[in-house]
Amino acid sequence: MHSTLHSPEEILRSWFGYDSFRGQQKKIIDTIVAGKDAFVLMPTGGGKSLCYQVPALVMPGTCLVISPLIALMKDQVQALRINGIEAAFLNSSLGAEEEYSILQKCGEGKLKLLYTSPERALLMPQSFWKKVNVNLIAVDEAHCVSQWGHDFRKEYTRIGELRANFPDVSMVALTATADKLTRKDILTHLGLHQPEVFISSFDRPNLSISVRSGLRSAEKNDLLFSFLAARRNDAGIIYCISRKMCEVLSGMLFERGIRNAFYHAGMESVERARVQDAFLHDEISVVVATIAFGMGIDKSNVRWVVHYNLPRNMESYYQEIGRAGRDGLPGDTLLLYGARDLGMLGYFATQSAQPELQLEKLHRMQYFAESRICRKRTLLSYFGEKLTRDCGNCDVCLHPPRFSDHTKTAQLVFTLIERCREQLSLGILVGVLRGSNAEEIRSRGFHLLQQFGAGRERPEHEWRQVIYQLTGIGYLEVAYDDHHALRLNPSAQEVLAGKGRVQLAEIPSRKTERNRPVPEILVAHQRDADSGELFEALRKLRLEIAREEKVAPYIVFHDKSLREMCDRLPLSESELRSISGLSDRKMEKYGERFLSLLREWESFSQS
Ligand code: ADP
Ligand code: ZN
Repeated sequence: MHSTLHSPEEILRSWFGYDSFRGQQKKIIDTIVAGKDAFVLMPTGGGKSLCYQVPALVMPGTCLVISPLIALMKDQVQALRINGIEAAFLNSSLGAEEEYSILQKCGEGKLKLLYTSPERALLMPQSFWKKVNVNLIAVDEAHCVSQWGHDFRKEYTRIGELRANFPDVSMVALTATADKLTRKDILTHLGLHQPEVFISSFDRPNLSISVRSGLRSAEKNDLLFSFLAARRNDAGIIYCISRKMCEVLSGMLFERGIRNAFYHAGMESVERARVQDAFLHDEISVVVATIAFGMGIDKSNVRWVVHYNLPRNMESYYQEIGRAGRDGLPGDTLLLYGARDLGMLGYFATQSAQPELQLEKLHRMQYFAESRICRKRTLLSYFGEKLTRDCGNCDVCLHPPRFSDHTKTAQLVFTLIERCREQLSLGILVGVLRGSNAEEIRSRGFHLLQQFGAGRERPEHEWRQVIYQLTGIGYLEVAYDDHHALRLNPSAQEVLAGKGRVQLAEIPSRKTERNRPVPEILVAHQRDADSGELFEALRKLRLEIAREEKVAPYIVFHDKSLREMCDRLPLSESELRSISGLSDRKMEKYGERFLSLLREWESFSQS
């Protein structure tokens, strides 16, 4: 089947059903096919998988994919197989016979992609690897090599040993985790050879972000219920801070007639798997969960994510909202945050292995929720990316606050940071500005500085807001690996040199925050009813096929393909062929069934 090899474009068209590569995909693929190592940083939904799947098909041999989770492997393998591509996974969920047959196939060169965990790959004897013609090693979720995130996996640091079996094969590492320390760890610990580095924007334009802070429980619930009422058939996740809260909220939703299930790490694993499967198979559309839910969920048609409590840090927040809209269609996210959340999160942070770091991260999260700067700007600047324009798709952009000139204040802050050779953490900086008597300030001699006490008139929480805003806009950066010291970015140097003015948003009080208008998009979201009906019919056909194939519906077709069918109403084979995601194999297997449904719909709506 793979005897004649084709160009990346041809493979994209016939095996995956897509017309063109996205963003940097083509460059990455060319780099890999040329035999070089690559490091790919791309947000969730950006299209990382094709970056190694296409090279695997272009080159003779088998691509070895290292992946941390069984669920992820299973998803990917099913999606490949349904497109007619020979792929398999090797992990503890297989029976002995199944495993034997996969190893056999592998040795015979019949597999194009073999997915496995690093633990498992390291267990395989050299004699096995000698038999396999490996054409590429792809390390998915490469951030698992780093201790900074919460997904650290020790065996990921040993992938270099595995590679010794294939000294001439190139390796690509992929991740959606953007923070700089993790990035550094991947490059040092994975043993890539002079890799080409590809960093994509982490902006996800199709995600809307809304945040409401200062809420009491009853206010949270009212907002949540109107949000859900506008999204009856759409799948989504509600994240809660604790197991107990999941169960309580789930019960409350039931009382309101909203079918849902809860999910947390305290449940039996059988029960957890049941909930996850029901969600993946579109049998249940609302899941109330702790952060335990979602790791390894590739479901592409999650349409919304609500945070019922403040997340513990920006990394988790970004990752969790990122589960919406992986198919590129709109995804709405809502963060509801009350003062109570902070107490509990602060407690978790102090009980963690790195309390100082976790508290600092929590502060950044709190600032994000309370600030009035474009949410995406703030979020992306946390990951070291600067948006040139406001996003236009967040609550702040839709209801902007008043801004005023704070250039003098900013210059005071920047001068102080510069004087102290960028060695001040936020707490100390605010202390010096406010003329604090703290021991650390005296012992380091900061009370002798000209700026000592220069900002006495501003209360501490306001100073924090100012610094957070300056960080959020990108003037300052926090060096987490160097005692959280604040660093000046080039834009701050310009302000110091008298070039450029600094605009900051007014600092909100809790009361004005509560009374802020709710963005319309959150509560009024009904789609055009007509195309809604066709969409439901297509969805039903998809579900029927998914059951026959024993896979999740989104493996058969993404929502995006169905939406395109609604919009373009293809009635011939060639028209259907041009819909995104209709590969040769899917055309052949399901094309006729979709066409007859569409034709029937057309004649029905004509009459
Ligand atoms: P990631 O692994 O980066 O989260 P995926 O590889 O799962 O992202 O891709 C996200 C979605 O985008 C998938 O549905 C995939 O089929 C689709 N996709 C990726 N590349 C393209 C492309 N060039 N054209 C159309 N759709 C694409
Ligand atoms: Zn915005």
